Amino acid sequence: MPELPEVETMVRGLRPAMTGNVVKRLQIFDAHLLQGCTAQGIEHRGRGARVVSVGRRGKWVVITLDDDRGIIVIQPRMTGAFWLVPPERPDHVRLEFEMDGSGDRVWFCDTRRLGKISLYDSLADAEGAFARSHGPDATEIGRDDLAARLKTTTRAIKPVLMDQKVLAGIGNIYADESLFQARIHPEVQAHRLNIGEVTRLHNAIHRVLAEAIAAEGSSFDAGYRTVLGLEGGFLNQNAMYGRGNLPCPECGTSIVKTRIAGLLGRPTHFCPNCQPRRRLSVKT
Ligand SMILES: [Zn+2]
Repeated sequence: MPELPEVETMVRGLRPAMTGNVVKRLQIFDAHLLQGCTAQGIEHRGRGARVVSVGRRGKWVVITLDDDRGIIVIQPRMTGAFWLVPPERPDHVRLEFEMDGSGDRVWFCDTRRLGKISLYDSLADAEGAFARSHGPDATEIGRDDLAARLKTTTRAIKPVLMDQKVLAGIGNIYADESLFQARIHPEVQAHRLNIGEVTRLHNAIHRVLAEAIAAEGSSFDAGYRTVLGLEGGFLNQNAMYGRGNLPCPECGTSIVKTRIAGLLGRPTHFCPNCQPRRRLSVKT
């Protein structure tokens, strides 16, 4: 499932083809993905519009058109991906932009058709819709804001990190890696973290996401590819996800692969030595 680093990689890949160029034609091939708009409506708004910017909010791709033509938001969700080279599965193309000038074609493919495509009249409308269903973007949240949000819940820290209403963009792989780097057990109740632990976690989230974006995300199955059809490299360099029973890179203890409540069966990886359940009480 594309998480923040994968969607950021998509956005960076799309910019050279789209930003500043005019949409010669926009075609919707699958109206099932449309939310609150019609294929005719979105095709009409797109045709002849210049793309002012391609940005990201959480896991949303936000394409801003000029001349008040509106904002196209595409959510890749489970299996959505953009292609600048002819896609592996042309039968899974749900939307196509044909760009003037560059002559590029941009395809949005979605195997399971769980992605969403919507049209907003203004950036403020799109931002408002995002804010109603999401917390701050995980690359932008401040430490004190994170601390305040964690204080309000007794749930385990890992599912809280993956709750898009708390902060937007973090999924399973990056939650495991951030908690390992912060030396925090995934089942510690969020409200019990002290400010030192929250500071470590905040730093770890920013570092892990930056490293993952630099590696162009994570490909662990056939689901995610860059716009050029390449695999992301983060799972060649991470410490936890996918490494159950292998030695912890920090201390050599076997990494535990387990399942914890609230994660719909998705696995959790942690080092029981580096991430003890109980904080050692240090008297000074
Ligand atoms: Zn360890």
